[in-house]
Amino acid sequence: MTPGIRPLIAGNWKMNGNQREAARLAEALRDGAENADLLICPPFVHIHQVAALMLGSRVAVGAQDCHAAHHGAHTGDVSAAMLRDVGATHVILGHSERRTNHGENDAAVLAKTEAALTAGLIPIICVGETEAERLSGLADSVVEKQLAGSIPYGFITAGGIVAYEPVWAIGTGRTPTERDIAAMHSTMRSALVERFGPAARTTRLLYGGSVKPSNAVSIMALADVDGALVGGASLVAEDFLAIAKAVPE
Ligand code: PEP
Repeated sequence: MTPGIRPLIAGNWKMNGNQREAARLAEALRDGAENADLLICPPFVHIHQVAALMLGSRVAVGAQDCHAAHHGAHTGDVSAAMLRDVGATHVILGHSERRTNHGENDAAVLAKTEAALTAGLIPIICVGETEAERLSGLADSVVEKQLAGSIPYGFITAGGIVAYEPVWAIGTGRTPTERDIAAMHSTMRSALVERFGPAARTTRLLYGGSVKPSNAVSIMALADVDGALVGGASLVAEDFLAIAKAVPE
């Protein structure tokens, strides 16, 4: 944890759940958590409903992507302003599944992040190396390049969040060692402070990749880990709340 930062536990529901399931999961999280802020990111089609259910609660609602343009001829896409309009406050950008499945590069993530900031959404930018990159000793340089290429000015002061998500740890049940997570978070903190100044000392740096109740206590205790981005375990309310409970007081 970073002293002075209230941790955030963010749930990425990915492409899961019908309306009834989304409502049931959201209701189960409504009371929030003691030591951490909670954020849930349902699929686009459930955001309006879930945001309405969460009104007046301590749980924020976000999206998993947005388009870089405000409006226009972009079939199948959703703008940041539309997300804000239906109650989202955050948006995950540059998730490795978007980078892999939709060919998103740092320039695209940068443009989307700028659009999110313009619309008043808090962006959560995901970065992380592949297994081959880690095995080749390239993890630090890959992540530093992603940070340099995808974070615009204005991000830090707007409360932008960075999530370190090693691609090989997502949905696999595998995680880096605690030492490697702490080292990468320290590298990211230094890179952000070097570029943006002392304000970046309080930027939330989340870890994501196979976080579950059984490993959350040790991961959340690491220096510069200010919360988690949780995929699979965020679909089970008890597990998501157990991860939030693992945050040190
Ligand atoms: C994710 O997709 O952002 C993620 C962290 O997934 P999981 O927790 O399932 O590894």
